[in-house]
Amino acid sequence: MEKSLVVITGASSGFGAEIAKIFNQAGFPLLLLGRRIEKINALPLNFERVIVEAVDVTDYKAFEASIKKAEAVYGPVDLLVNNAGVMLLGNVLEQDPLEWQTMLNTNIMGVLNGMQIVLPGMKERNHGTVINMSSLAGKKTFTNHAAYVASKFGVHGLSETIREELSGSNVRISLVAPGAAETELLTHVTDQNALRDYQSWKESMGGITLDPVHVAESVKFIYDMPQAVTIREIDIAATAQDA
Ligand code: NDP
Repeated sequence: MEKSLVVITGASSGFGAEIAKIFNQAGFPLLLLGRRIEKINALPLNFERVIVEAVDVTDYKAFEASIKKAEAVYGPVDLLVNNAGVMLLGNVLEQDPLEWQTMLNTNIMGVLNGMQIVLPGMKERNHGTVINMSSLAGKKTFTNHAAYVASKFGVHGLSETIREELSGSNVRISLVAPGAAETELLTHVTDQNALRDYQSWKESMGGITLDPVHVAESVKFIYDMPQAVTIREIDIAATAQDA
């Protein structure tokens, strides 16, 4: 059977790049989104059935236009992986509110944007899956993560709400909640104290955290279940992670 369109946000690095590889190897047509498309274009993929678009997920119109464009080529999207996100560590007493805004806009508004763009069609077709990338910070607290925790608790909350709402429409809403992993996520942190604390926490766990490949495998596992089965949530972390 012809495979349906898979859309992955934040495909330029980290989890998104690994998710793109795994679905590409499995032969799915892909729409890969991110702002740094040169990084997406440099991924080791077979680009025959891949569309790459420079899209900021906070830009609803651009996000929607890119999905319409890919659907015109490959047919309706059957899986959206809302993976794009930012983690700007910092203590709320000192952190620049602009960093809170960036996290809330990307991690919550970006996810809501993606869901509103694809879900009406999925509901109408009685078929489709959305997998949101949350975090263990979406269900428990971590020092210096307050605004990030707020954004990821938001992802947990909105995912479960929408899952309930669409449960009668054969549309699946799932999330993956990873622990600390080896991606580019930390490279945007501006608060050097928060970064030092994070690095010493990581060192205390042996210095190497989760390989993003296993997060990508979790996403694929969720999608590969029969449509009548929803894995509501996968929490995944390095065995050595204590928190
Ligand atoms: P990376 O920094 O490696 O990847 C983040 C991705 O998000 C990049 O591809 C980036 O692309 C994209 N992105 C960020 N902002 C935007 C935006 N406004 N519009 C479009 N794309 C955007 O980190 P990870 O792979 O770790 O992060 C992926 C997800 O995993 C995030 O939601 C993160 O919160 C979550 N997570 C990460 C953990 C970790 O320890 N690494 C643990 C738990 C959850 P570009 O810059 O090219 O736009």
